[in-house]
Amino acid sequence: MEVSSDREYIYTSSELDKQEGQLIEEVKAGARETIPDPDAWLDEEVKRNIMLSSVDAVLNWARRSSLWTVICFPACCAFEFIAAEGPRFDMSRFGMEILRASPRRADLMITAGTLTWKMAPVVRRIYNQMPEPKWVIAMGACAISGGIFRSSYNVVPGYNKIIPVDVYVPGCPPRPEALIYGVQTLQKKIAKEHQILDLPQKLLKGNK
Ligand code: SF4
Repeated sequence: MEVSSDREYIYTSSELDKQEGQLIEEVKAGARETIPDPDAWLDEEVKRNIMLSSVDAVLNWARRSSLWTVICFPACCAFEFIAAEGPRFDMSRFGMEILRASPRRADLMITAGTLTWKMAPVVRRIYNQMPEPKWVIAMGACAISGGIFRSSYNVVPGYNKIIPVDVYVPGCPPRPEALIYGVQTLQKKIAKEHQILDLPQKLLKGNK
């Protein structure tokens, strides 16, 4: 069939465009406002009231901020420890003001002094009575290696021969500032520990 090229249209193309544009504008004018998100306020509340962290981070923060020291001062380094506890150096700034006579209420042992083999079983027993997790700071040359008494037949050449030591503070005796630095070092170490994962292993190792 032959199609005539002079076919007439009812509307011109510009009229059609105009009509279409008007239709779109009508639909737009009748469209509803976007419904606001009913939970939008939650975002702000979460930011203000919820802090996300790991269980380890919270436990480590609490533990490193409240180290309780068991009394175990067999020799002269103890006097520098006492000075560190006094008002001038004020070790309680680090949550360490509480000294415990009972090892069952302590989680830190600061070994301030020379240790003899005769006293070694007692110190080891005190350490074993401390609950997990627990830490040890070896304070002074005698605690680290036996110091000037190292070659003596009755001196233990370092507390690490009988119990695990976490931080060593050298000196004869170390000044209170050095001890405080040692405590801060221990706190940094505690902050990196994995209490939850490591606890069963520590308990298995136990108080051997
Ligand atoms: S390191 Fe020095 S001050 Fe400390 S217990 Fe030994 S001898 Fe005494």
